[in-house]
Formats: sequence, C-alpha cells, structure tokens
Amino acid sequence: THEARANIGVVGLAVMGSNLARNLASRAGNTVAVYNRSPEKTRTLVADHPEAGFIASESVEDFVDSLSKPRTAIIMVQAGAGTDAVIDQLSDLFEEGDIIVDGGNANFHDTIRREGAAKKRGLNFVGAGISGGEEGALKGPSIMPGGSAEAYATLGPILASIAAVAEGEPCVTHVGTDGAGHFVKMIHNGIEYADMQLIAESYDLLRRVAGHDPEAIADVFAQWNEGDLESYLIEITAEVLRQKDAETEKPLVDVILDQAGSKGTGVWTVQNALGLGVPVGGIAEAVFARSVSAKPGQRAAVRGAITWRPDIQKPSSSFEDDVRAALYASKVVAYAQGFDAIIAGAQEYGWDINKGDIAKIWRGGCIIRAQFLNRIVEAYDANPDIATLLEDPYFARAVTDGEDAWRRIVATAALSGIPIPGFASALSYYDALASERLPAALVQAQRDFFGAHTYRRTDKKGVFHTLWSGDR
Ligand code: NAP
Repeated sequence: THEARANIGVVGLAVMGSNLARNLASRAGNTVAVYNRSPEKTRTLVADHPEAGFIASESVEDFVDSLSKPRTAIIMVQAGAGTDAVIDQLSDLFEEGDIIVDGGNANFHDTIRREGAAKKRGLNFVGAGISGGEEGALKGPSIMPGGSAEAYATLGPILASIAAVAEGEPCVTHVGTDGAGHFVKMIHNGIEYADMQLIAESYDLLRRVAGHDPEAIADVFAQWNEGDLESYLIEITAEVLRQKDAETEKPLVDVILDQAGSKGTGVWTVQNALGLGVPVGGIAEAVFARSVSAKPGQRAAVRGAITWRPDIQKPSSSFEDDVRAALYASKVVAYAQGFDAIIAGAQEYGWDINKGDIAKIWRGGCIIRAQFLNRIVEAYDANPDIATLLEDPYFARAVTDGEDAWRRIVATAALSGIPIPGFASALSYYDALASERLPAALVQAQRDFFGAHTYRRTDKKGVFHTLWSGDR
C-alpha cells in the first residue's frame, strides 16, 4: 500500500490519460498518481517518464490509497461503459467529499445521471470537457468542467495549472453544475464542425471556380490567417494543403478519399438543438455534408443518372476577397447559433453559464481557438443579455460589411455547381432574421386550414381559427 501523498490521480493511461498525467506532473505543486486497467500501460508510462515522479498503482485499491484527501481522480477512459465501470470502482472506495472527474467525451445526459448518483453517495462528480486532442492534453488543453462549486474549489486550481493560457488567463472556468461542462464541450465540437465545413467550402470555391492548386490555396489561407480569420483551423488548413503524399508526390488532399467520418459529438449537438428548438443550421449542414460525402453509392447513382450542367463562373477580380468575406460572415452566424444553443441549454437544465467566460476559455488549447473569440468576449462584456451575437455592433457591422460579397459567393456557387450548404444556410438564416415579414404567416394559415391549429393576428390579441371554405 501507498502513503497518501498524491493530490491528483489519473485513471486510464491511453494517449489522452498519459499526456494529461504528464502535463499534471510537470506543473509545480502536483504529485500525480496513475492507474490503468492493464498494468503494461502503467509500467511503460512510468518507465518512459521517470522525471514525472508518478506514484503508480496496479490495483484500484492502491491507487485510491495513494491519494490525499479530498481524493481527486480524473478518469480518461473510453466513453460509455468503460467510464461507468471505472466510476463504479472508484465510488466503492472513495469517501464523502472525494471528487471523481470524467475527462472523457461523455454525453452530458450521462454526466447528469452520474452526478446525481454520486451525490446520493456523498461524492462529488465532475464532468469535464477537455479539448485539444493529444497535444492539448500534454501542453495545455481548454477545459470545461461542470459539477458542484464545492468540487471546483479543490479541482479548479489543479485544472488551472495544466490548462492552456490565453491573454494571460488559464483556459478553464467552472461552467455550471452537473452536465454543464460536457454540454458546452458538445457545443464546442458542433461549432468546430461548422467552422471546418465553411473552410472546406471556401477551399472548394478557390479550387473549382478560381482554379487555384492546393499550394496556391495554402498561400491564400496563410494570408487570411494574418487577419480577422486568424485561427488554429485556418492555420492547419494551410499546412494540410501544402502536404505532399510521400508515395505519389501529389498534394495529399487529392489522394485522400473524400468521405468524411465523425465520432458523434456533432450529431449530439444537432439532436439536442432540435429538442431545444434552437436553429443551428450551420452545425446541422456540416453534419449532413459529412453524411452526404459518405454515401458513395448515391453519389455514383446520381452521376450516372443525370447530365450535370454547372456553369463554372468566371471569377471576378475580387473573388478571393469575396470568399473571405463570405467565410467570415458565415462563421459569425455559426458562432451566434452555437452560443444560442448554450443559452437554451442553460435555461433548460438550470445552469448559470457566463457566455463571455466560455468564449474566453476557447481562446487557447482547443480546436476552435481563434482571435475572433476575443470579439465574442467583448460583445458579452458590453452586454451579456444581447438577443443574438448578430446584435452586437461589431458583429452587426461584420455581417453587413460582408453582405454583398456573401450574396455574390452564394450565387456564384449555385451557378457553378459548387455545394455550399454552410454558406447558403448561414445567409438564409441572416436573411430570415433580417426580414420584416416571414412566410411563417402562410405556414400558420396552412396549419389552421388542415389541423385547426389556430393562429395569432398582427392587429389584435387572442387566438383565432378561420372557418376555411375547405372545411366540411
Ligand atoms: P480510448 O481509446 O478512448 O480508451 C482507452 C482507455 O480506456 C484505456 O486506458 C483502457 O484501458 C480504458 N478502458 C476501456 N474500457 C475500460 C474498462 N471497462 N475499465 C477500465 N478501463 C477501461 O483512450 P483515449 O483516446 O486516450 O481517450 C480517452 C477519453 O478521452 C475518451 O473518452 C475520449 O473520447 C476522450 N478524448 C479523446 C481525445 C483524443 O484526441 N483522442 C480528445 C478529447 C477527448 P486498457 O488499457 O486496460 O484497455
């Protein structure tokens, strides 16, 4: 058995857990206990990193004994059944006030359930979204913890010690109670889907309308990365486009099969947004675009059945600038929709979420880190109660300044046969919000006609039903 001297433990030593444990050990003040179901992984980690001073255990009992109180352990194992198994083991050995942290990509509904069960046993359970992949885990991720304020008092400083730092502040905040952290991580991933799709559409336009090769497009992205669009995703896109395939020496992007995969957090975002009644068209279109790409049978069937007549438009002299403006405006819409989903989730589940703090902790460590997030911080600083980010003066100007270019790009893409579900849906959303009257009036009339669903009037209060001539 061990002396209880580790202030933090990590269970699950695959790539994420190992890197997180090393990150924790490298920061002053932390002594890190480690445990993995298969002891080989534990032995390898300890042997490869003597500098970390890990306290290693080969049984859960020893691991728990090695932790000082309140015992605090971060679980980094496979989401789902694996996580439940480890929670059960720790729950049997932990005592009142101890803290179990799930750092995996859990569904926030599971986190709410697990937190409720732990609380009944007097334990603290914290679902913490951790973004930034393997490198983030090692060098500094963006961390989105939920759970109780009591747990955060112990856990907060530990997480702050390993988080990425942006503008001098650690990228971690107590997001809200129970599942709030995993909910916000889910929305982060949804926004990531939308951002990636918009960048991909920009690439497609520069490739097929402007006729640039990947190297030239990399230059365009690298240049964009100097301005408003400066972000990790734009930066890596330039790098990706410069990459040559070792075997064929072709641009690697041309050798990669054009069928996109996903691990499901984008789907969760859209499913939950549907339930909450929040339009997140940018995220939904990004998820659907991946689904369309992954249907080679349908794609081949349509190509075989039709005579396709796209009329590739001659790019205007301002084409690249137009694409940039359309990308920026569409990105503003995608983030506005993502924050709307956070607001709706907070309302539904009773979380007190500070929107500006969420934008702050996304500025470093995570996949969507970007200069742009500073503008969101400023918008919510100026007025936390804006009805939509598009109302903030900076963002209102950003979309109106880009509006003409945005319309030209959507029109050009439609005529040229370039699929731009992200750009088009963002523009339609903007136009819907901006229109004084919407055809929703007609939809209400149709609903009243066939289902007596009633409608409200513009000129007086109350609920109305018309005796339509079609009524029998
Ligand atoms: P992973 O491949 O998702 O999971 C492997 C780990 O889970 C191993 O340590 C394995 O132990 C353990 N495990 C599985 N079932 C178990 C059970 N029933 N009991 C005990 N241990 C069990 O590992 P990962 O890629 O490092 O990811 C860990 C978590 O972080 C996941 O929730 C993942 O979604 C999340 N995440 C991953 C990334 C990423 O970039 N990879 C980014 C963010 C978040 P054994 O060695 O004994 O098999």
